[in-house]
Amino acid sequence: MTASLEKRALVTGVTGQDGSYLAHLLLGKGYRVFGAVRRTSRSNVARLEELDIAKDIELVDFDLLEFGNILRVVDQTRPDEIYNLAAQQPQSPAPGGIRTLRSNRLPPPREDPEPVYTGNCDGLGVARLLEAIRIVNPKIRFYQASSSEMFGKISEVPQTEITPLRPRGPYAVAKLYGHWMTANYRESYGIHGSSGILFNHESPLRGQEFVTRKITVSLAKIKYGELEVLYLGNLDAQRDWGCAADYVEGMWLMLQQPAGDDYVLASGEMHTVRDFVSASGTVLGLDIVFEGVGANERGIDRRTGRTLIQVNPKYYRPVDLNQLCGNPLKAEQALGWKRRTTFAQLVALMAEADDRRVRDKRLTF
Ligand code: NAP
Ligand code: GDP
Repeated sequence: MTASLEKRALVTGVTGQDGSYLAHLLLGKGYRVFGAVRRTSRSNVARLEELDIAKDIELVDFDLLEFGNILRVVDQTRPDEIYNLAAQQPQSPAPGGIRTLRSNRLPPPREDPEPVYTGNCDGLGVARLLEAIRIVNPKIRFYQASSSEMFGKISEVPQTEITPLRPRGPYAVAKLYGHWMTANYRESYGIHGSSGILFNHESPLRGQEFVTRKITVSLAKIKYGELEVLYLGNLDAQRDWGCAADYVEGMWLMLQQPAGDDYVLASGEMHTVRDFVSASGTVLGLDIVFEGVGANERGIDRRTGRTLIQVNPKYYRPVDLNQLCGNPLKAEQALGWKRRTTFAQLVALMAEADDRRVRDKRLTF
């Protein structure tokens, strides 16, 4: 491919789960990939290293809070496509707080929500990016990482692109602002902006602050005698869990369409946290049966009679989302997108990866 035909992509949040898989996908398609990272992320390229692409990505200093910086980055990198994946999430470590990504210890449960900072990053940050696109080059195509959390207080199951949005919590409210700003720049300025309303998606690169990875890491540690008991919150909580590698393909497909739009990416199935524990246990050779109810429920290893799972109410959430289940029909029909990985395959991928990492003492994130 000649230099002039080479496509250029700017990916914010490139050090995260989705950023790493997306960068991998884009490099495979011949893109020149610029990874926009905040300065503190410089040493945090463990996921990119795991995919063996850290050396192929050009990192640029980036700050979602600083319009001048964003304008300069967009101007200097001259991207054809921008994927905005950076976000302060409720599970993220507090800014300036103890960073857990390089640590082998499980992070604490959800921090205080930091509503103003979250709004600034996840809401106004999107407006800054869109405004930079409008000023520098309105032909740049834009992907916004919207979230199923925007549905909040659910009014129908499953959820689609036209289900009412009733966000709960600062993260969801901020994401809603970014979502509507993307639609507004599309309608008002003709920007090719798309929002992917993505339901939970997981992978071996998921952060340990999320329940799926907490489960696979902890059960692997139990298997190798590094942990006695895994403490969880609401075992009845259900999520529509898909696989991150499938979902980043959907992001790319959205930007290849003639015009921007909103799309749900989901598996269309719900599973409980308990299901995830049982399935992970099976992959790791642990036959876990559950006994008891509520905070007294326990997961017991059928072979040894040992209690491996206990409920700790400190992990309960004051307001937990339920009935989150997406209908990806529009994406399937308009984009030709189809998730490839089943729930069982996803659990196996994650549990097997953590089995190897714990066995080999290579748990780097
Ligand atoms: P992730 O693994 O937690 O990665 C988040 C990325 O955002 C990291 O690169 C992180 O950089 C960066 N970031 C966090 N706070 C930031 C800040 N204040 N300023 C600049 N960068 C910041 O998340 P993910 O699972 O890949 O998710 C990617 C995007 O999709 C996010 O916007 C998320 O809200 C959205 N989303 C995810 C899901 C899901 O299930 N995964 C579902 C719906 C929507 P550091 O390395 O510096 O921490
Ligand atoms: P979320 O959908 O972005 O909130 O993803 P999480 O993986 O953090 O949480 C998914 C569900 O798992 C929520 O309904 C939680 O209440 C539930 N859950 C149960 N125990 C835990 C736990 O120990 N940690 C986390 N993070 N979630 C838990």
